[in-house]
Order: sequence, then structure tokens, then C-alpha cells
Amino acid sequence: MFEIHCPYCDEKRPEIEFAYAGEAHIVRPNAQDQGEMSDADWSQYMFIRDNVRGEHCERWWHQHGCNMFFNAVRHTVTDKFVMTYKMGKSRPTAKQIADAKK
Ligand SMILES: [Zn+2]
Repeated sequence: MFEIHCPYCDEKRPEIEFAYAGEAHIVRPNAQDQGEMSDADWSQYMFIRDNVRGEHCERWWHQHGCNMFFNAVRHTVTDKFVMTYKMGKSRPTAKQIADAKK
């Protein structure tokens, strides 16, 4: 078992308290644009996700803790969490990810 840092609780907690909640930074089209989207574009938004081998921005839910969603950069091969950050923050740059690994 490993621990995940929750940026809201500001502490590491056991992984069993958390649930994966999909790829991070997927922006939902606004209601007006949804009606004008083609089926292919809607399908792209709804179902197509990156399948990264390496560091990936993901959304996580502290389901059995503070009940907050947050984002994380996790290495998909090693399962190592590089960093976590609060919702609303932009995707970390390559430099920010490199700095977090130090
Ligand atoms: Zn929490």
C-alpha cells in the first residue's frame, strides 16, 4: 500500500481512502456549444482520453477523507505520485513536474 498527499487535508493518507476519477483538465463544452457539436466531436469529448505511458495528469477523489476532488501527476508505469494540486490550478509545466521530483 502507498500513500497519497491530499492537497486539501495537506497530509499523506492511505491509498484506500482515494478513488481515481479520470483524466484531469478535460473541459466540458458550454451548453450552447454542446447543441452545435457534431456527434464525432461529442464522442471525442465524452470518450477519447490520453493513454500515457509515463507522467499523466489525473483527477482523484478523497472519497473517504475530506470528500474533495484534486488533480495529481502520476507515473502510469511506476504508480508513483509526482505531485498533487488543488482543482482549478492549471496543468503543471514540465519544469514544475521536474522540480517536484527533486
Ligand atoms: Zn483530503
